[in-house]
This record gives sequence, C-alpha cells and structure tokens, in this order.
Amino acid sequence: MQSPIQTYLEDLHNSLVSLTDGELASYIPELTKVNPDWFGISLVTMDGLAYNVGDADQLFTIQSVSKPFVYATALADRGVELVSSKIGVEPSGDAFNSISLDPQSGAPLNPMINAGAIATTSLLAGTDPQAQWQRLSSSMSTFVGRDLEIDDSVYHSESATGFRNRAIAWMLKNFGIIDGDPMAALENYFRQCSFEVSCQDLAFMAATLANGGVHPVTGRRALPAEHVERVLSVMATCGMYNYAGSWLFEVGMPAKSGVGGGIIAVLPGRFGIGIFSPKLDAKGNSARGIEVCKRLSKDFSLHVFGRSGHPSMALGRVYSGADAPSRRQPSSEMRSYLTEHARRIKYLCLHGYLAVDGVEYIIRRMLQMASDTHSYILDLHQVDGISDCAARLLNEARRGFGHDGIAVVFTRIHARKSITQALRRVAARGDRGYLSFEDNDLAVEWCENRLFGEAAIPPITFASLANFLLFKGMPLDLTEQVEAATTRQAFSTGQEIVTAGQAGDGRMYFIESGQVSVLVPLADGAHHRITSLSAGMNFGEMVLLGQTNRTATVCADTEVQCRILGSHQLEEITATSPMIKIILLENLARDMANSLRRATQWISALA
Ligand code: GLN
Repeated sequence: MQSPIQTYLEDLHNSLVSLTDGELASYIPELTKVNPDWFGISLVTMDGLAYNVGDADQLFTIQSVSKPFVYATALADRGVELVSSKIGVEPSGDAFNSISLDPQSGAPLNPMINAGAIATTSLLAGTDPQAQWQRLSSSMSTFVGRDLEIDDSVYHSESATGFRNRAIAWMLKNFGIIDGDPMAALENYFRQCSFEVSCQDLAFMAATLANGGVHPVTGRRALPAEHVERVLSVMATCGMYNYAGSWLFEVGMPAKSGVGGGIIAVLPGRFGIGIFSPKLDAKGNSARGIEVCKRLSKDFSLHVFGRSGHPSMALGRVYSGADAPSRRQPSSEMRSYLTEHARRIKYLCLHGYLAVDGVEYIIRRMLQMASDTHSYILDLHQVDGISDCAARLLNEARRGFGHDGIAVVFTRIHARKSITQALRRVAARGDRGYLSFEDNDLAVEWCENRLFGEAAIPPITFASLANFLLFKGMPLDLTEQVEAATTRQAFSTGQEIVTAGQAGDGRMYFIESGQVSVLVPLADGAHHRITSLSAGMNFGEMVLLGQTNRTATVCADTEVQCRILGSHQLEEITATSPMIKIILLENLARDMANSLRRATQWISALA
C-alpha cells in the first residue's frame, strides 16, 4: 500500500500541473534556458524521510534560497551583536533587489533582500574572500547533507549582468557595512546563488532548520541551536519580500523563495518542505510553489501558530496479540494457531492531539510493520482530539491496508464524540466505515477470529465430554459414565444462562457449540465482559470446589448447545469411582494455573 501522504502530494502535484501562470526570471539571461514545466515537491520529516513528487531530483540554481543559510553561517561565525550592527531584521516591504538601507547607518533592512544578503556574505569567517568561500560552501553542504557544485554558466551570466547588485555592493562599502573589497564579496554572493540543488535538497535544508539546526539524516549540526529561531524569524517576516505579510497571514510558515523557482518552507519540529517550479509571479516567487504552500498549509493545518509538538509523541506503546491475547479461552486448536500467529495482531496506543505529522508517523510505523501484520488495533483511549486532515489520512490508511488484507480497527472511542464525528466526517462515499470496539479485549478477539478465518479453523462442535480439557487423561469408560449422567440444553442468543449473585444449583456447563460471554456486573448496572467461551469450554466448574454462589453472569452470544452435569449426579458417580473427581480437580487446577499465567502476561504487557 502507498502512504496516503505520498498520494496526497501526488494529487496536489497533479492538480497544479495545469497552473502555468508566471514568467521565467530573465534578468539573469541564463535562467531563461530552464524548462518552464519542471515541477517538484519534496517533504522531509524530522527523522529524515523524504516524500518526493515530480521533478524532485532536477537540479536548478538555489538563488535567494541560499540567503537564510548564509545568514545562519554569519550568525554562527560573528555572533548576533556584530551581525545585527550591520544588517537589520525589519521587513522592507520592497522587492528583493530594492536598495532598502537604514537612512542613518546605511545598514540593509534585513538579510533576505539582496543588499542584506551581499552584506551577510561579506561577514563570513575567513581572512580573504577565498577562505570565506570555503567556509560558505562547507556550511551550505552541512545544511544540505551533501557537497554542492555551482552552475558556472548561471554564475557567469549573473556576474556579467548584475550591475544593480554591483551598485548595491558599492553603496554598502560607502556606508562601511562591507569592510573589504565589495566586488570580491559580491562574486561570492553570485556564486552562492548559483549552487545547484534539487527541491529534495531544499527540503533537507529546511528540515535541518526545522530540526533545531541538525541535519535529520547525517546528524551533523549545521547551526548552533540558539540561532535557529533567529533565522526562522527573519524568514517568517522577510523571506517572501513584499509578499511576506500576506504569506504569514495565509500560509504561516517561515519560508524563502529564489528566482530560480525554488521555495523552502519550515515547520519547526515537524517538516521541511522544498518546491521547485521556475515560473515566477510578479513578486519573483514561484507561482506553483506559492500555491503548493497555500494548499499544504490549509489541508494539513500547518500554520506555525497552529500548534507544536513532536510527531512521535502521537504513538505510545506498540505491542501484539501475543503479549495481550483476548481473555476468551481458546480451544487447543485455536491456541496452537495463536501461538504462531498472535504477534500478527498489533496494538498501537495513540496519544494526544492527532495532527497530520503525528498521523504520518503512525502510518509510517504501520507500513513498516505491515508485512508481519494481519490486524491493527488503534487504541484511541489517550487521544484528546484529531484534526480533520489527520482523520482523513488515518481513514485512507485504514482503507488502503484493508485493500491489502490488513484490518485496522479502533478501540475505546465510543464516548469520544469529537473523534467519532471527525472519523465520520471524512468517511468517503461508498466506504462501509470504520470498525470500533468498546474495549481492546473485544477488538483482539475479533482479530483472533480473523486469524482463525484465514487458517479456516472451523467452529468446532464438541459432542463428547472426552474432548473437554476438564476430562483430559480420564479413561474412556469413566468419561462415558459421567456422560450418561448429563442432560442437554439449548439456549437462544441473548439468553442469560447463569446469573451473578444467585445461589448455584450445582450445575456445570459444557459448551458443545456456540459462544457465551462471562460478565461481571458493575455498580452502575452495566456489565464488564471478562471473557467469552466457545465450544469445548466449560463454565460453572467452580462447583467442583464446593462453591455455590454464582460469581458471574453467563450470556449466550449465539445459539448455544450445552451438556449439563448436576453436582448430585457427579457425587453419585464419584462415590463409586473417586478417580473421576481426582482427574477433574487436577485438570481444573491446571486450567486455573494457565488462566493465572495469561492474566500475569496481560498485566505485564500493560505495565
Ligand atoms: N541572484 C539573484 C539576485 O541577486 C537572487 C535573487 C532572488 O533569488 N530573489 O538577483
């Protein structure tokens, strides 16, 4: 099954292919040579997984998307104080190539416009422009996670025509913002704009910022953590030039665009996004890139002011049906099948508010376990809410897994209106809907039954007492003696066979066919279902220990056929054949020891 995140991104890509608005940047002549149809989207998670769509590997020049990373490097090299004395952090509200300098100091208003970026490049550590270039390119490589090359023809093309940037660099020199040779700094700036990257590279750079400055795959720190917020703040307010306000308002992610057609967007602690499509709108931002970000932000509720938290927090414990089997006592055939296969039932405990990133993480874990899974039980007991987009993805994952023969069921959401409503809201037409259970035991039993169905284990009927565990090891003639003393009775679905608290009539029940539930009454009148019993199992056997009061209620879940043994009849037979009672008690003790072992297993699985 394909991850619904991937499917979503593919759909998004498909729906925007027809958006052909905008023009290629032409003031750098070489940029007009790119294919205007290229379109890639990449989304990288905090643990380094890249979801790629379209031309995600296509290389193009990074242009202004380099600016926040060079600014980051300057902060790391020279400290906030010095950098701030030379370059402001105020949005200019002007185009990227505007000459927006502070009227008194001559400091560029921010590092995202060309004036600020050229000044930034001149500030990098290094005794001369060559050393500064070494520093710049190695820092950039750390952000990307691989060594970068520059596109020489774009670099030369810009260097040969960049008169306005040259004027800006001289202005900066005039105001004392640039110390050394402004033309050398400018060449470094032109080269930095010509780094060849793919949109997947951009997504990794964005993810490194989102991940507190550490590359999610290489684990290398690209930036001291203390500067990450500063870089993101400047991106948030100035990254989209004279579109920055609307951008924050509508999309709400720190971002940066470049005239090569790249855009990055950073979701702190959640995702890094890179988009590439070279046709630009009037403000110099990739037209499709803007649209992708708008849609992603809306569909996945990604506005930075929305919420925060680590996606892996959404998934708590993961355990299997082998750790916590149903409380039903299986027949020996079922038990031996479960020994082999119960681990293929997986419980996932989900936590907190489920948003798209948490659900992405959960679905990915499910995909990883899928080859060894027959059913998933998603326990939503500890979930406080779910966004519609997260519910939609979960629902799509449920359907996708279902398609592959893997059931996904929910538990403990019955009284959780906000969750059930969200799940229902997103249910697709023609979808039979999700299956949910009031508790994990009912769910795991359902999943176990699915396993039995897979193995075609038939619902067995037990016609002779010799098949019952309680009679194991009893010589056949003795078993027949007991059998002769029994009566048979049928119960209809829903019928109460024994009632908790009632004085027992000394009857023991042996189920020949059908299934019953054992229920313990609760104070509020409801019942807690402790187990279910099917053919080959017995109840009421505590009579053997002289217990008279019924401790639990037993209800027929289906049509049930029982063989009944009264205690008087048993006493009569055992008077002449005491062996019978000894064997029954031995088997009972063994059975109780097994139940105890299972209970201990449950408790340790839950601890
Ligand atoms: N190299 C380009 C320039 O200085 C970068 C501009 C941009 O990407 N917005 O004009």
